[in-house]
Amino acid sequence: MSSKVIIIGAGPIGLALAVSLGRAGIVVDVIDKQTAPMPRQTQDARVVVLNHAAQNLLEKLGIWSQLADVAGPIETMQLEVPGAPSHGKFSAVDTTFATLGMTVFIQDISCALVKACQEHPLVSLHWNTPAHDIVINKNEVTVNRQWDGACLIAADGAASVTRRLLGRTALSAPYSQSAHVATIQTQMPHGKCAFQWFLSEGPLAFLPLKAPQEISIVWTQSQAAFVEHQALSDEAFLKALSTASDHQLGSVTHIGQRFGFPLKSQWLDAAVQPRVAFVGDAWHSIHPLAGQGMNLGFQDVSALSAELSRASKVGIDIGALTVLQRYQNARAAQNRQMQQLMSFINKMGAIQGGCMPLLSGAGFGILNHWSSLRRWLVAQAQGE
Ligand SMILES: Cc1cc2nc3c(=O)[nH]c(=O)nc-3n(C[C@H](O)[C@H](O)[C@H](O)COP(=O)(O)OP(=O)(O)OC[C@H]3O[C@@H](n4cnc5c(N)ncnc54)[C@H](O)[C@@H]3O)c2cc1C
Repeated sequence: MSSKVIIIGAGPIGLALAVSLGRAGIVVDVIDKQTAPMPRQTQDARVVVLNHAAQNLLEKLGIWSQLADVAGPIETMQLEVPGAPSHGKFSAVDTTFATLGMTVFIQDISCALVKACQEHPLVSLHWNTPAHDIVINKNEVTVNRQWDGACLIAADGAASVTRRLLGRTALSAPYSQSAHVATIQTQMPHGKCAFQWFLSEGPLAFLPLKAPQEISIVWTQSQAAFVEHQALSDEAFLKALSTASDHQLGSVTHIGQRFGFPLKSQWLDAAVQPRVAFVGDAWHSIHPLAGQGMNLGFQDVSALSAELSRASKVGIDIGALTVLQRYQNARAAQNRQMQQLMSFINKMGAIQGGCMPLLSGAGFGILNHWSSLRRWLVAQAQGE
């Protein structure tokens, strides 16, 4: 039985899996419908906050040192509910972690992973290659009548074509919200603090970049408010942003290119079937309010890679359902719980007025006084 894998999707999750499997002696073909990512030239691009587990994986794959040099460390985090008498505060000092997360440009992650794939003799990347045909037989799976292997991994993101080609439907719940993403500059330095305001239309996050006055924003709004704000001039948008952030870092002085992302919660009930496994957003996509989507995907990579390597080493069929089910069992509960928690927090955050500010203030008060609760919450977010 061959230990050969085909991965559909060369996003960060598909690429990380390819490097990890290559290192375990498994032959990997990765196909992606897009062209290869180019090195980033500007700060106007999307970031993610990577937790400790994701950093550990990227370290094992030999690329973390390149990313750490340009990443923005988060040392503290402040949560605000308008009108609440106090705010929630987390600090890395209270924990066993050096930081609460690192803000990294996705393009930097992808380029570093592409290089690691290119340097590995067992991994081949095929760009401009959309998957359009999948045939699953008893002993192998064939994609586009060109690539075959013992196992197919769907890493083709939230709009997974693999799901459609295999006749699978994800449970889907649109949030009726979209997020503005942009890089801004503020009058005052961020001090390595990430801020999150739970506003009535949705949360606004300030994620610190490496430069002291540069921040990446994720501003979630109801669809109507999003469309309204998208139509604003940069100057008017800056004013709205300064007001929404309560001028905590003074005024917002500059904004780069503005991007928009519709938000959706999606969940595929079974992440595996004979010869096929789903990873990352192709399996689950969640609200970005706690910055956990890619982190969960990297944990899928670690779990799936461990199962396939173990099977391959002892000569077991890596596409066998029993092997793939062990991966699903290892990841399903955490992925589902995180998704439900994000949807719940998003709903709670939207309830403003009445006694909500008082309740939030009380909640933050408990949080601020209960250091073991803060430590436990941080450990969960770090994938530990
Ligand atoms: C606004 C916002 C902020 C976020 N912030 C964070 C954060 O701070 N921390 C965090 O952990 N997560 C965050 N996330 C989530 C994170 O961005 C995603 O979880 C992550 O990008 C998913 O990676 P992926 O590789 O699974 O999918 P993708 O990055 O979507 O990659 C899928 C790949 O598949 C390819 N593909 C698609 N169809 C085909 C096909 N037919 N054939 C071949 N290839 C195909 C695509 O070209 C693409 O390269 C955020 C998300 C949003 C929207």
